[in-house]
Amino acid sequence: MESTPISVLPDKCVGCKLCVKACPFGAIVVENKLAAIDLGKCTLCGACVEACKFDAIEMKKKEAATAADIAAYKDVWVFAEQIDGRIQSVTFELLGEGRKLADALKMNLCAVLLGHNTQGMVRELFERGADTVYAADRPELAYFQDEPYAAVIAEMITRHRPNIVLCGATTIGRSLGARVAVKVHAGLTADCTGLAIDPETGNMLQTRPAFGGNIMATIITPGRRPQMATVRHKVMKEAIPAPGRTGRAVMEQLAAELLASRVRRRSFVSEVETTKNIAEANIIVSGGRGLQAPENFALLRGLAEVLGAGVGSSRAAVDAGWIAYSHQVGQTGKTVCPKIYIACGISGQIQHLAGMASSDIIVAINKDPDAPIFKMATYGLVGDLFKIIPILTMEFKKLLGK
Ligand SMILES: Cc1cc2nc3c(=O)[nH]c(=O)nc-3n(C[C@H](O)[C@H](O)[C@H](O)COP(=O)(O)OP(=O)(O)OC[C@H]3O[C@@H](n4cnc5c(N)ncnc54)[C@H](O)[C@@H]3O)c2cc1C
Repeated sequence: MESTPISVLPDKCVGCKLCVKACPFGAIVVENKLAAIDLGKCTLCGACVEACKFDAIEMKKKEAATAADIAAYKDVWVFAEQIDGRIQSVTFELLGEGRKLADALKMNLCAVLLGHNTQGMVRELFERGADTVYAADRPELAYFQDEPYAAVIAEMITRHRPNIVLCGATTIGRSLGARVAVKVHAGLTADCTGLAIDPETGNMLQTRPAFGGNIMATIITPGRRPQMATVRHKVMKEAIPAPGRTGRAVMEQLAAELLASRVRRRSFVSEVETTKNIAEANIIVSGGRGLQAPENFALLRGLAEVLGAGVGSSRAAVDAGWIAYSHQVGQTGKTVCPKIYIACGISGQIQHLAGMASSDIIVAINKDPDAPIFKMATYGLVGDLFKIIPILTMEFKKLLGK
């Protein structure tokens, strides 16, 4: 049996409650002058160990797995992200990539689906290449919530022992992946843009941009299982559906305590946007600090509506509060890969380029002929965006008969 990863040493603890105050997760209580840690709530963050002046809390470092331990971990898992009963397209990309990894390892490709009324989604996952779908179907899991989702998946990982677990590097996937990795003591490589299997060791090679996109780092987690990664949306090709394909469905039985959550969803308010979501758009019209004020994004929206495009932005515009973060393109925003990317008043710093450099055609509009964006652009328009965009909008309107 595995020993407790964190424990209170009774001969040293004086019941001072410093650890109670330090714990951000409310996982410690003091009873009869002795601290007790609730392992269900503890994330092993170590705040209590640092706060204790009496060295009365001991946290054991998890030993690296042995070869025999590692051999016990099988299969490639893909977290099937669903919103309102619709599987998100990033899942199909992960299944496409996961198939290559599973074939290289001669293992099964499995999807992990949490939700309610999941039958239709299970079928869809088989058609997109999953050999097995582990489904947790409960009303409490109808929509994503950090605590129960992380608890359920961590428990499933402990029981089934997958070799690899992939999540989309979406808002949900990023939040979930990190929580699960902490719970199961796994390494996690965030925001990968490339995955492969090392033919000699069987380790997953996880590639992601590092140092502001200046280098591509390939990361391995040889001493831990599962190997966990979040993967950027729109970087990998979707698995092609094979209608009628089936597989093994495993309906998971869940203990009630796994479903507990301190958060209750009162309502969901979606962002009101008249233009396309940039993650899905074939054309993106993107604006930066050169727009000068939030109301000037209306210029871009006008052009985007004519072109059926999405509106993107640089981080400078988001940081200034001109547009919501969901529009940000770049290293700390979304990676996009549209057919046409029109950058308006964006200088083209490396962190922005990291999110749009693989667009098929890049059009740059900038009044500074030396702006770095022109080095990357397919077509460059040197001039004032406030003059150029209205002309483009008018001409496209005529051309497209709108
Ligand atoms: C860790 C880290 C992560 C980051 N992540 C991101 C990220 O995800 N995405 C991102 O975008 N940035 C990111 N940044 C910030 C990045 O370094 C730049 O600061 C940012 O991209 C600059 O935004 P900008 O091009 O809109 O502004 P600026 O660099 O100020 O450029 C404005 C441009 O507008 C032009 N201009 C001004 N007026 C006009 C006009 N009337 N007509 C035409 N052109 C005009 C100017 O010539 C200039 O080139 C990150 C930075 C760090 C340190």
